[in-house]
Amino acid sequence: MSHAETLRKALIEHLESLQAAGVTHIPKVDLPLLTATARVEPTKSTDASGATKSHTIPDRSRNSESDSQLRDPGNPIYNAEPRSESPSPARVFAKVETSFDQPYATAIPAAERSTALEIIRAEVVGCVKCSDLARTRKQTVFGVGNPNTRICLLGEAPGADEDQQGEPFVGASGQLLNKIIAACKLKREDIYILNAIKCRPPGNRNPSDVEVDNCWHFAHQQLEIIQPEFIVCLGAVPTKALLKTTQSIGRLRGVFHTYRNSRVVVTYHPSYLLRTPSAKVHVWNDMKMLMSEMGVEL
Ligand code: URA
Repeated sequence: MSHAETLRKALIEHLESLQAAGVTHIPKVDLPLLTATARVEPTKSTDASGATKSHTIPDRSRNSESDSQLRDPGNPIYNAEPRSESPSPARVFAKVETSFDQPYATAIPAAERSTALEIIRAEVVGCVKCSDLARTRKQTVFGVGNPNTRICLLGEAPGADEDQQGEPFVGASGQLLNKIIAACKLKREDIYILNAIKCRPPGNRNPSDVEVDNCWHFAHQQLEIIQPEFIVCLGAVPTKALLKTTQSIGRLRGVFHTYRNSRVVVTYHPSYLLRTPSAKVHVWNDMKMLMSEMGVEL
């Protein structure tokens, strides 16, 4: 039996036993995720010429070294240990209604996050809940990046290029997003990028509220697994899905919001910037606010 199947079996057994015992909700778990000791204090990192360098996160999911061997305390993007970790990832997949201000459940071990994400990915691949989208998509677009990151970027939905390649933000918006990421001295592979919905709406129309509702639990589960310290909502659709607000980006941007244990920055979508270059300054200011909070020197 594969590791994923073992995890799935353990999950089902765990949930069935809870259900049999009359449990209808998974209780809150205190998670000291953002306490001072739980965060790596970022250190200024410069190369020989004195220039600030970007850091690379070791992919902790692909090897067996201990946490202390894998930890790079100089890397401000790394999702710092120690965090409360559960011996079982089961609660990650519990489809209970979770208010967005509840803390995340106890974190699953860093080395199991990739496997946990793969289980969700397999569910996404087989999903046909939005029949129109399932019929017209070339493939689902799950998410990409490092599951042990401190920061997730949350977009709207795949476009034609993403539908073709199976990866978020690889088209024109993605090129601009890559420039924003690089300007922040980050690397795409060090963060995690996902969308609010996983299938391309035909003709690149906006996803409907029903489509977002149908799909949101997947992003919710991805965030539950990764438990990023920071989430950047790119545009109105992911903002509404995450923060349950219909206020404009203009009203919401420029300050931190809260989703569970994550601090949330709301800013304009790159495709809006392509149409309205004058808004780039606002996105840059939002990203500078975020980088300052993360301890990344620009
Ligand atoms: N726009 C998005 O919101 N997500 C993508 O993946 C591509 C374009």
